[in-house]
Amino acid sequence: MHAHLLAGDCTTTFDGDRSYEKRGRVVCLRKPDDTLLVHDAAGYRPVAWLTRPETSMAVGSPPTVEARDGDDRLRVMFHETSVDVRVPVSSAGETVGPCPDCPGALVERSGTLACTDCDREHALPAGATVLETTCDCGLPRLSVTRGATVEVCASRSCEPLDAAIEAELDRRFDCPDCGRDMRVVRAGGLLLGCDGYPDCDVSVSLPDEVCDGVCDCGLPTAGGRCLDAGCPSP
Ligand SMILES: [Zn+2]
Ligand SMILES: [Zn+2]
Ligand SMILES: [Zn+2]
Ligand SMILES: [Zn+2]
Repeated sequence: MHAHLLAGDCTTTFDGDRSYEKRGRVVCLRKPDDTLLVHDAAGYRPVAWLTRPETSMAVGSPPTVEARDGDDRLRVMFHETSVDVRVPVSSAGETVGPCPDCPGALVERSGTLACTDCDREHALPAGATVLETTCDCGLPRLSVTRGATVEVCASRSCEPLDAAIEAELDRRFDCPDCGRDMRVVRAGGLLLGCDGYPDCDVSVSLPDEVCDGVCDCGLPTAGGRCLDAGCPSP
């Protein structure tokens, strides 16, 4: 991933719910997600910006950078540039360990593992904890709870979370309505669903807590509460 960094004397025009034009010697940064920031000499706030617009592009020499988002339009017209470079950037987060594919470091940010050098990225399951242990593939291992706590590789293709949860919970509970086994199934998230589907459509989502018992209604409980949020039993 690269960011485009420009510096020089420019006129910035914003058209939208508010409109303005500003002239000055600024630093303009266009991020890989097209976010455009224009900084002048003072303060931490940009003098103009558009966050994750629909489009942003640079044309001409000296360049004009234009970003559009709905009716908002930000135009940064350089009269002269002292810097016009593309610089490599990555997510910045807590260091997790070395990247298995390159000399970079893996960092964790907003539920994603990303490398500082290559484009390798792994979305982590919600609520996953990154462990100190490393998988044979070189990625860190995770602790994830979906009705049961399991340890899996950060790569789903290396070690699928669903299979690990299945090994713990598949057929462990009986359907309270028909007595058949409750199976681990994925429909968006992970669920326990009756093996008799579609004749019996009992199903409950697996929470990010451990199943610790059975409710009066016959469904499992987690954290002392029935997995059916609408269950009348206490
Ligand atoms: Zn890497
Ligand atoms: Zn692995
Ligand atoms: Zn059933
Ligand atoms: Zn219940």
